[in-house]
Amino acid sequence: MTAPAPEITDLNRPYWDGLAAGELRHLHCETCGHNWLPAREACPNCLASDPVWRPASGCGHVVSWVVYHKAYHDAFADRVPYDVTLVELDEGPRLLTNVVDSDAGRALAVGVPVELKIEREGDLALARFRLARNGGAT
Ligand SMILES: [Zn+2]
Repeated sequence: MTAPAPEITDLNRPYWDGLAAGELRHLHCETCGHNWLPAREACPNCLASDPVWRPASGCGHVVSWVVYHKAYHDAFADRVPYDVTLVELDEGPRLLTNVVDSDAGRALAVGVPVELKIEREGDLALARFRLARNGGAT
């Protein structure tokens, strides 16, 4: 069984195209400077509707995480235990992801620096993270 696929729309296509090209992109508000993910048309800070896509550095830190010991979808049955981690990028956006070398969450802690590790699953490139090798540049 394959994992459920994201719905790719005209709004979020630059995010997925960016990952396929090897970079993580976030939206940036030209009016107030706010950065965010996931994609939405208006800035969540000032409601301006002139966002542009920008590449992220790929560096961030752990805000929170959980470890799944039970698969709630058959496609994930061979992955347990695995973490679902909230990462905040250095640019500010947060995303739910996995830290692939966290030893099922045991190496995670609030504030631990992580870096982007794009992984392919089928036709999709996914933004996952690994523990930062140099201790983080934040
Ligand atoms: Zn704004």
